[in-house]
Amino acid sequence: MDLYEYQGKQLFARFGIPVSDGRPAESAEEARAAAAELGGRVVVKAQVLVGGRGKAGGIQLADGPDEAEARASDILGMDIRGHEVRRVWVEQASDIAKEYYLSVTFDRGEKKPLFMLTTEGGVDIEDVAERNPDALARLHVDPLEGFQPWQARWLCFTAGVTDPDEQKQVVGLVGRLYDAFVGADAMLCEINPLIVTPQGEVKALDSKFSVDDNALFRHPDIAEMRDVEAGDPQERLAREKGVTYVKLDGDIGILGNGAGLVMSTLDVIDQVGGSPANFCDLGGGGDAEGVVDALEVITSDPGVRGILFNIFGGITRCDEVARGILEALERMTIELPIVVRLDGTNADEGRAMLADAAPANLHVEATMLSAAERVVELARSR
Ligand code: GDP
Ligand code: MN
Repeated sequence: MDLYEYQGKQLFARFGIPVSDGRPAESAEEARAAAAELGGRVVVKAQVLVGGRGKAGGIQLADGPDEAEARASDILGMDIRGHEVRRVWVEQASDIAKEYYLSVTFDRGEKKPLFMLTTEGGVDIEDVAERNPDALARLHVDPLEGFQPWQARWLCFTAGVTDPDEQKQVVGLVGRLYDAFVGADAMLCEINPLIVTPQGEVKALDSKFSVDDNALFRHPDIAEMRDVEAGDPQERLAREKGVTYVKLDGDIGILGNGAGLVMSTLDVIDQVGGSPANFCDLGGGGDAEGVVDALEVITSDPGVRGILFNIFGGITRCDEVARGILEALERMTIELPIVVRLDGTNADEGRAMLADAAPANLHVEATMLSAAERVVELARSR
């Protein structure tokens, strides 16, 4: 789960990472009030789950409440790379002498958290990595040994943070960022830019904070930060119904049992020239309830023009899934073509049940390939 900048900063503050004081605002009037409370110069920042807000005009300085109100009304409602701005964060403006970059993320290859620090912050980190890889200090932390203070000193030294007072602050900050990363079960904690003020104060001017969904049950306070209105409507519905679903941009709705089988199904659809509309894993189930939920999610996507069930019976029995499909189709009306491929345990029984009772728009195919070809063809001819 990705957090908004201001939510990430709230977590930063909780772990002792210095950030500026600020307030969220959902209207220009609220932004004015926030600026009045904060006093002095403020910065009004679009809160969207996408980077590059600065370049898109979503970050504006304001000299006081009047200007904050005006800037907020410019920014609210703005479209930043497909994300509508519904909230701004108003914080005390900072003077910037230097912009650094600091992050910790998972290096899946090494199976270890990876720190990156560079004094060339404020820009896209990918650019730095490409243009001047030596400027980017990288260091893995052994999760069993945990973070060691020398590692922060090594990062500073390697990245070229030379001022002793800055070094001291950055070293402390690296340790606290690791605490935040582990403490919140994060996948990514990124500060870009990490600034040094003209007075020599180091603080986080931005935050990118991503928490492992599978650990959210341990962090009800973070789970509550989820913005249910953001993101894809089908994915939201799926989450509410407990369906494992990922939206894609094609037109063939896919249901399978088991993530591996569903992934192969995506490949086979692609192989026959089609384009999957989603990834949906029924898991071990196949009961009517689960099938209804999954079909509701899939058919709520207006882009879907055909549906493919790909079921391999193991512990799940094909006759049970067939019963689930038939029952689901009795409970809901679907006019789209549906192709079902059943194989494995009790496949013959399952196919016979479908052949007996299925509506006219349901077609049974014997293999994954023929099922994929059929559904793509049927979807096209609609
Ligand atoms: P991003 O564009 O989405 O990464 O948003 P950031 O929060 O990183 O802000 C982008 C840029 O806006 C920063 O690199 C700064 O140059 C500038 N900026 C943000 N906050 C302030 C501030 O308080 N004072 C000043 N002077 N510039 C700021
Ligand atoms: Mn940034």
